[in-house]
Amino acid sequence: MKVFKFGGASVNSPEAVRNMADIVRSYSDDSLVVVVSAMGKTTNKLEQLVPGVRPASEHQELLQELYNYHIEIINQLFPDAHQDIYTAFDSLFAKLKQQVAQSPTRYNFDYDQTVCFGELMSTMIISHYLNFIGLDNQWVDIRELIRTDNNYREGIVDFTATQRCLKQWWAEPRQTSLIVTQGFIAGNSDGYTTTLGREGSDYSASIISYCIDAESMTIWKDVPGFLNADPKYFSDTVKIEQIPYNEAIELAYYGASVIHPKTVKPIQNKNIQLHIKSFLTPDAPGSVIGPFETIQPLTPLYIIKNNQTLLSVLPKDFSFIAEDNLQTIFATLSQLNIRVNMMQNSALSFSLCIDDNEMLLSQLRQRLSPQFRLRYNLGLQLITIRYYTQDIIDRIVGNSTILLQQRSRNTTQLIIQ
Ligand code: ASP
Ligand code: MG
Repeated sequence: MKVFKFGGASVNSPEAVRNMADIVRSYSDDSLVVVVSAMGKTTNKLEQLVPGVRPASEHQELLQELYNYHIEIINQLFPDAHQDIYTAFDSLFAKLKQQVAQSPTRYNFDYDQTVCFGELMSTMIISHYLNFIGLDNQWVDIRELIRTDNNYREGIVDFTATQRCLKQWWAEPRQTSLIVTQGFIAGNSDGYTTTLGREGSDYSASIISYCIDAESMTIWKDVPGFLNADPKYFSDTVKIEQIPYNEAIELAYYGASVIHPKTVKPIQNKNIQLHIKSFLTPDAPGSVIGPFETIQPLTPLYIIKNNQTLLSVLPKDFSFIAEDNLQTIFATLSQLNIRVNMMQNSALSFSLCIDDNEMLLSQLRQRLSPQFRLRYNLGLQLITIRYYTQDIIDRIVGNSTILLQQRSRNTTQLIIQ
């Protein structure tokens, strides 16, 4: 059995859905679990519809946009006479409207009960369409199988319960070897929907692969594979053919956007290979993450994060930055759920790089100000280079000012203005 994941961009139009169906058809000899995200930018739209986010007077228009977008795709994929999909879609959409009309309760909870409709709508349309063109499949509500705690918006997966549910479900007899299900969403023991964090569908596919021992997993993307740099910033990118599991984890940690950071660990534990392939050139080999020694070809890798804040924290009493000070700083960061992208300390100050977020920054300053002086710079760029040379660094930095730099044997990180 293979697990495929199709992201929002691979199902954002009728043509895209047809293309995806062609790919699925070309694997009809295999048993497949197909994990699908919400279509296009649907999740962003649904975030605006979480009760309390926007005035209720704006809901009608936003709902109409979402309805039109999906119904247009349905119109193009199915003939008018195919009543089933219209009836099913309208009844699902009515549930979304009901959810949006609820009074706000807790934001994170309301968020999950609302945004899950993106994946429910996309998989409903795709499952009906595949059946319609003769690819018999079973639609599965993954919220009954992937179990998390009650941490809404960032559900922590209960692997024991999830494995039990998925294994039991997988052992059931079924008439088809093609399953269609949702990425990103899950369920908890209170019977509510949870989600795994934005872009979490990769992780869903990896959880499923782990629990039912997939023979391989494939993420279908709009890029030819794992590139050594983001084509948004670099014109001559190199495709990496083979990536060791640990290298992929490091790269995702530094911010490579090609895979969700939590994706690799489960499949590494089961030694399952993860393919990254282009849905535009499905026959091309793409990239594979697996039990390799080194990346192939060995080439410098660049990861760029924009909108970074560099913060220097200095004890007010001119004491050294020592363990007790660091403990206070880290406890505060953790209470505020702030992720540190890079850090460095000297005798008298501690520097850290975090994503720009003025609200969190002001809370952090407030909490640390009794003990520390804080200095900061916003709007910086954090560049990570794996397998760097001095020449490469000079070229990348150009005339920009380096505010902080760190080097280990393989990796350098630079914060530039
Ligand atoms: N639809 C969700 C998002 O846009 C999950 C995903 O795409 O992986 O974040
Ligand atoms: Mg997506």
